[in-house]
Amino acid sequence: MRKTGTVITQSWLTADGAAEVMAALAAQGGTARFVGGCVRDALAGRAVRDVDIATDQRPETVVALLKAANLKAIPTGIEHGTVTAVAHGRPFEVTTLRVDVETDGRRALVAFTDDWAEDAQRRDFTMNALYCDPDGTVYDPVEGVDDLEARHVRFIGDPYRRIEEDALRILRFFRFHAWYGEGAMNAQGLIACRDRHGDLDRLSVERVRAEMLRLLEAPSPVSTLRIMAEAGVLRQVLPESGALRCLERLVDMGEGDALLRLASLTSRRADVLTGLAGRWKLSTREKVRLRCMAAGEADVPADLSDNEARAQVYWLGPDRFRDLVLLAWAADGEDRRHLAALAERWSAPRFPLKGADLLGQGIPAGERVGALLRTLERQWVEEGFEPSGAELLARIQDID
Ligand code: ATP
Ligand code: MG
Repeated sequence: MRKTGTVITQSWLTADGAAEVMAALAAQGGTARFVGGCVRDALAGRAVRDVDIATDQRPETVVALLKAANLKAIPTGIEHGTVTAVAHGRPFEVTTLRVDVETDGRRALVAFTDDWAEDAQRRDFTMNALYCDPDGTVYDPVEGVDDLEARHVRFIGDPYRRIEEDALRILRFFRFHAWYGEGAMNAQGLIACRDRHGDLDRLSVERVRAEMLRLLEAPSPVSTLRIMAEAGVLRQVLPESGALRCLERLVDMGEGDALLRLASLTSRRADVLTGLAGRWKLSTREKVRLRCMAAGEADVPADLSDNEARAQVYWLGPDRFRDLVLLAWAADGEDRRHLAALAERWSAPRFPLKGADLLGQGIPAGERVGALLRTLERQWVEEGFEPSGAELLARIQDID
């Protein structure tokens, strides 16, 4: 396989268990190389996150080699050739070189091979088919380094065929463009994505959601999303999406949170957000958060007084309040930085009364205790959290 003459000299090649896993895989004369994102990111000068490994050893052998080296081996996707090695508590995905023999647009029937060039062919984009030896020597079988440097995301092989094999590659094409691309997108790839956007319906929501959220987290995803909208791709996976202006503002504000960015693409109607959260099978926590981003949840005009802002923070909690402030700012463009800062800086005092305090005043146990507490709490908040417990208790007689 084509060596580039480039050698990566970074600590992740050996750190945190990487050296042990690579040594274990090569112990019986086999070859193991780092592959994909880690090599790409190292060459692009970006932080390397998860480290994936490719090997010419069969999955059962991979398990045996890891065990022989006293490393943990989890058969994550062993029928597709993937075993997770754990060293120093850190996981490494080890995948046997393979060719995708048959695909139904989602899942592949695979055959293992010992040909590195064949393994490269089944990967999605040229910049994702880069390999490197444990010593950092880089292999570039499909000219991914040139594309990476030109910031050009290019399908390996015919885009139509590659999309037919796995429609998720449509979204990955845009996701990688948003993160690694610059200038015009690859024309052939873009045309194929536009023509085949209907194929996205065949994908599981989990895969779509994961790709879309990663895309939304890109430093500046707006221009990519605009192209996706023009190509009919955005509507296909996110029919709730409308104008991109709010997102554009969120990005300018330096706000990178994916859920906020997602909400900003929609009308922020409560039913729309609830529907989206359900369809994408978000976690309960995320569902609640997204639903609370509805435009009518709280009124947070730019000229909200500090006192009113503190009241909102008290009732909504700082996180929900901050979400609403940022979305309102993104919606009308009026700076609300002071409100967002207040949410972070100010922590709400504790309401000084409990039910027992009212019982102590001779109020009989029952519904009235709760109602009185709520009334007093509201007064306490409206009066800037100032009245003391004793002052509040003195008001009981005046409340019906
Ligand atoms: P990152 O993890 O930073 O998103 P990555 O390149 O590691 O980037 P993964 O989704 O972790 O992306 O996939 C690892 C590698 O597997 C990719 O680099 C690519 O070579 C290959 N790959 C992943 N998904 C696909 C796919 N749908 N079709 C073809 N190849 C794929
Ligand atoms: Mg990865």
